[in-house]
Amino acid sequence: MSLPVGVYTDVVSAIGHTPLIRLNRVTAELEHSEVWVKLERCNPGGSIKDRIGLQMVLEAEEKGWLSPGGTIVEATSGNTGIGLAMVAAQRGYRCVFTMPDKMAKEKIDLLKAIGADVHICPTDVEKEDPKSYYSVARRLSEEIPNAWYPDQYSNQSNPLAHVFSTGPEIWRQTQGEITHFVATMGTGGTISGCAKALKNLADKEGKEHPRVIGVDAIGSILKEYFEEGTIGKPHTYAVEGFGEDFIPTATDFSLIDEILAVNDEDCFRMARRLARQEGLFCGGSCGGALKIALDIAEKMDTENMKAKVVVILPDAGNPYLSKMYNDDWLQSLGYDVDEWEW
Ligand code: PMP
Repeated sequence: MSLPVGVYTDVVSAIGHTPLIRLNRVTAELEHSEVWVKLERCNPGGSIKDRIGLQMVLEAEEKGWLSPGGTIVEATSGNTGIGLAMVAAQRGYRCVFTMPDKMAKEKIDLLKAIGADVHICPTDVEKEDPKSYYSVARRLSEEIPNAWYPDQYSNQSNPLAHVFSTGPEIWRQTQGEITHFVATMGTGGTISGCAKALKNLADKEGKEHPRVIGVDAIGSILKEYFEEGTIGKPHTYAVEGFGEDFIPTATDFSLIDEILAVNDEDCFRMARRLARQEGLFCGGSCGGALKIALDIAEKMDTENMKAKVVVILPDAGNPYLSKMYNDDWLQSLGYDVDEWEW
């Protein structure tokens, strides 16, 4: 018997099916172009990473990497951990996560609340350093019996989750009229999977490919690698969830048309503007992605082009209440918040 729309027999069935919402006030100056946001905070675990948490576990169960009583060990900046912990709780697995120490305390507390053990590691060390959150996760996955290490950075179920769900949802929701797709890049799973689905669906219907634009953080190495093929020296930045200090194999750079970079201030200002002007309370990477989406829409608009820009908003603002939504915190980083206009 099929269930009514919006009714689910378990939490994992409620993953995905997120709303696509048109912006109206921050885009008030645009005459021809539109910006639409895919509100991934509406996933049951609160971020886009629920989708890959489920897909990676499904593959691991199918291939026998994860069996009853098993433990999931992952290096995560928070959201993937929440997605995995939610799926693990629903299916009876244990979770052990490593996180860099720059992450919001609320994210750590949330992981613990869903039953995970969390190990905090220094942010400011090389990936190969034995103290890095990647190295600690790998070591724990070898030490703990019956452990499985999904490694979202190389796991092909990460982009595949978006080939199966996010990309086709956007195509349906825009009725194939999307002209530009904008997403921040961490593992690159979101952008690669969505780009693949959107370009395949466009081919099937004989339509032009939407232009795929990745958003990197200034201080990360992804943009330079994409443009020059060289790996620069990363430096730390405050915004969470995107940009990397190594090249994740979950990213398919051949599907990306352009990468643009944003700084911390772009992300924080735009996220706060989105909350005040649109009522959409989202994370810092959402602000960065939206900054680029608006720049693109404005440029297209001045050329009298009718762009339909879709931008992924990966998570909610709640974990950042004590950080970028807190004026004292921003002032401690030297930002003159009183000058910021909404
Ligand atoms: N924003 C946030 C808040 C995230 O947690 C992530 C994932 N690290 C991203 C953006 C980037 O997504 P992806 O890993 O799919 O590139």
